[in-house]
Amino acid sequence: MTKAAEPPTPLRPKRKCPECGKPSDRATFPFCSPRCKAVDLNRWLSGSYVIPGPSVDQTGEGEES
Ligand SMILES: [Zn+2]
Repeated sequence: MTKAAEPPTPLRPKRKCPECGKPSDRATFPFCSPRCKAVDLNRWLSGSYVIPGPSVDQTGEGEES
């Protein structure tokens, strides 16, 4: 049996800070600094982010008859 050679998987691709594009710091991953982390958090709090996920829907639990 011959398996296609798989390329060695790198540990983890380096991520850039989503805020400023600098290399992320381990302590503040995936951000480069606490500042950028705070900026991102503020964005969350201000509601610019839409959180993906199952919609909270109380209906449809059963069938109405
Ligand atoms: Zn940054």
